[in-house]
Amino acid sequence: MNIHEYQGKAILRKYGVATPRGAMATTREEAEAVATELMGAGATGVVVKAQIHAGGRGKGGGVKLAKSAEEAADLAGKMLGMKLVTHQTGPEGRIVHRLLIEETLPIEKELYLGILVDRAEGKPVFMASAAGGMDIEQVASERPDEILKQYIDPGMGLEPFQARKIAFALGLKASQISAAVPFLIGLYRAFLETDAALVEINPFITCTDGRLFALDAKLTFDDNALFRHPDLKELRDVSE
Ligand code: ADP
Ligand code: MG
Repeated sequence: MNIHEYQGKAILRKYGVATPRGAMATTREEAEAVATELMGAGATGVVVKAQIHAGGRGKGGGVKLAKSAEEAADLAGKMLGMKLVTHQTGPEGRIVHRLLIEETLPIEKELYLGILVDRAEGKPVFMASAAGGMDIEQVASERPDEILKQYIDPGMGLEPFQARKIAFALGLKASQISAAVPFLIGLYRAFLETDAALVEINPFITCTDGRLFALDAKLTFDDNALFRHPDLKELRDVSE
């Protein structure tokens, strides 16, 4: 089962994984109210993000930056109800019913993080790459050496030394390693405790002021384990 980005980010926050401030909106008015609140709380701009169960929204016109709440409202008005076509939706596209309005962050670098189960190894594998923000399938096929794979012992979980290894492989600065370790361990705990099949953060960003954020979030749950998670079942969007 797939969920929306805004729902995935709410789950990640419970595990101490930093995400941009923001909220979901289903109307132009709601979008304007969220943007007004964010700008009042110090955001320099907001991002209007279409919530559909497919990636590639940025290139397809489903992620737009606004400098003011009025501009965000206009963008929201245009995006709601539109048919968004991305390389993952197929030509029929998806109708946009929900938006995530969140603060714009000063991106320094876009990195990649992914956790999934490697069935051949019988273990979860944490994947990390400095080549974030782009199509990871393309990186995997053309430059596979740019993806670090860290296998995780299911009994031990992601250990701090492994988290440090991932952080160094991503080229994080010494001053960012101490924040990266609980971030990565939190991400793994979210994967484990929700019985996820996939947790993908693309991009995981560093900001010009040094902070780290999950800027996008894709969570897919194992349908066979959903009976253990009545709260997650509630997140299903039947229109998708
Ligand atoms: P998708 O993967 O569907 O294209 P993303 O959430 O990854 O959607 O957003 C696409 C791009 O938009 C990101 O790689 C980033 O460059 C930019 N972006 C997204 N959210 C923000 C934000 N809060 N602040 C600044 N830039 C953002
Ligand atoms: Mg993305």
